Amino acid sequence: MGGPLGRGYRTDRSAVDAKLSRRTVRRVVAFAAPHRPVIAGFLAVTVLDAAIVVVNPLLIRHLIDDGILRKDGSVVTWLAVVMVLVSLVDASFSIVLGWLSSRIGEGLIYDLRTRVFAHVQRMSLAFFTRTQTGALVSRLNNDVIGAQRAFTSVLSSVVSNSISLLVVGITMLALSWQVTLLCLVTFPILFLASRWVGARLAGLTREQMNGNADLGNVMTERFNVGGALLLKLFGRREEEDDLYDQKAAVVRDLGVRITVVSRVFYAAMVLVPSLATALVYGVGGHLAMSGALSVGTLLALATLLLRLLGPIQGLSNVRVDVMTALVSFDRVFEVLDLPSTVQEKPGAVALPADSTVVEFDDVRFRYPLADEVSLASLETVTRRESADNAEVLRGVSFRAEPGQMVALVGPSGAGKTTITHLMARLYDATGGAVRVGAPDGELVDVREVTLQSLEDVVGYVTQDAHMFHDTIRANLRYARPSADDQDIWDALAAAQVADLVRGLPDGLDTVVGDRGYRLSGGERQRLAIARLLLKAPPVVVLDEATAHLDSESEHAVQRALDEALVGRTSLVIAHRLSTVRQADQILVVDAGRVVEHGTHAELLAAGGLYADLYRTQFAGDEAAV
Ligand code: ADP
Repeated sequence: MGGPLGRGYRTDRSAVDAKLSRRTVRRVVAFAAPHRPVIAGFLAVTVLDAAIVVVNPLLIRHLIDDGILRKDGSVVTWLAVVMVLVSLVDASFSIVLGWLSSRIGEGLIYDLRTRVFAHVQRMSLAFFTRTQTGALVSRLNNDVIGAQRAFTSVLSSVVSNSISLLVVGITMLALSWQVTLLCLVTFPILFLASRWVGARLAGLTREQMNGNADLGNVMTERFNVGGALLLKLFGRREEEDDLYDQKAAVVRDLGVRITVVSRVFYAAMVLVPSLATALVYGVGGHLAMSGALSVGTLLALATLLLRLLGPIQGLSNVRVDVMTALVSFDRVFEVLDLPSTVQEKPGAVALPADSTVVEFDDVRFRYPLADEVSLASLETVTRRESADNAEVLRGVSFRAEPGQMVALVGPSGAGKTTITHLMARLYDATGGAVRVGAPDGELVDVREVTLQSLEDVVGYVTQDAHMFHDTIRANLRYARPSADDQDIWDALAAAQVADLVRGLPDGLDTVVGDRGYRLSGGERQRLAIARLLLKAPPVVVLDEATAHLDSESEHAVQRALDEALVGRTSLVIAHRLSTVRQADQILVVDAGRVVEHGTHAELLAAGGLYADLYRTQFAGDEAAV
């Protein structure tokens, strides 16, 4: 089954490797293990339900042979009553089966979903910079549901249909092996059709899934505010229409092909039983006339024959279902198997809460390759392999003493952001070490400490100061869940944003974030600073906003920062003159190296790169300060 699956999926490793399916099956079984009691109950009811299928046809046989043909009214009445009861039992079984199978299925969805969410959340930042959110979310939703659906349908169809097939087949053989064997002659047509269809459908379905995910991606990319703005500014409506049309056309054509291929199967499904029924009546009719077969037996055989239909149909679909299931499970497992590049070491120690010394010791770094952090199927087209290999930091060393402010300056692309990423352990250094520790203790490599303790020690205010779509209160509490309103107001006041929040109609209950109240850049930064103040970490990493703020905002942000940084060790990507002036050390970063090092006055006097930068980047601020 690897052949047809692999075709057209060169980019998706999971589909090409046919051997994967056996392993996948084992893992699926392991996944289902916690639901064993429910599964056992389900199987028990399934067996009973399958056995009941043959009861009514056998009753028909008696009703005709011993009732109608012998003109015995009471036999006819009683058997009819029993048939009603059997049907009632059968119907209630189907309800119970539905209940049990959905408990298994929904339980499985729940397990998969929560596990994938927990896993993805713990992935390193590198994964998210690589991955398309749309593709990831669609995998979390669609594939998890696909996997569940297929799992329950496999469970119910394989088991119940095989048992029905067996029971019905044996009963038919017992009633008349000659007629039964004749019927069987027609069945290979069905199996051939189902093989052919199954092989093709698996490939087509996968293509369609990817096509749909593709469509979703285009929309998620274009229909967020940023994308929409770009569309408007560049006026690329026609090209965008064409792009979407092409992708939609692929999905449309696949849909048509899937329907036609499936119809071939349904045609066979209708044809074969009709042929078999004709054979039963033709051959069985002659046998009945010669007295070798009773009329009741003949009718029972014809009824049983129709009962074979459902199980056979179910079992032929199972091939497709199993494949769809394995594909879905594979895609989910693929995400689950992707290791995070930043992980806590076994036996990691907790960093002391008063860790205020930071040291970079000959730190070298290159961004990880795509293969190391992400899945081809979650990315789109290009990978920047060549750019990836370049070393971004080439031996960065410095030491920040308790309470010092270290400012990073340098041309764009020099590696400043990367240095801050390593500080917060969003990535791991590929050479050298980043160490943190208490003033009177030993410094510890950040790779040796627990993630939680490092997160507690290092606070990070990013340039975009992201807020969740939630109330201001909830966003701030994210930093410290135990904070009460007074704590929050204190933090807001210290961050120079309390007046603003007080002025909002809903106060702390104002919803901010993507679709919420539109904060200005400066306001958002101050809110982020308030969030940081609540967390109160001893070490702060700060990426100053490059966007120019009006001077009032600028001053407010400055005051907020002064408040936030006092008594804390800080690493600041500086874009403002006031910041560099204040810094205890300035590191001038260029092409992955610290090329100059000193205070503002020292570096200006030295007349090197800093002096150049000062003239181009900071001198404009002079007037404002
Ligand atoms: P700065 O903050 O000084 O402008 P950065 O640290 O952002 O510089 O970038 C340093 C270099 O690393 C740049 O050449 C940039 O292209 C590269 N880079 C940044 N982020 C990534 C990433 N996620 N993957 C690969 N390369 C990256």
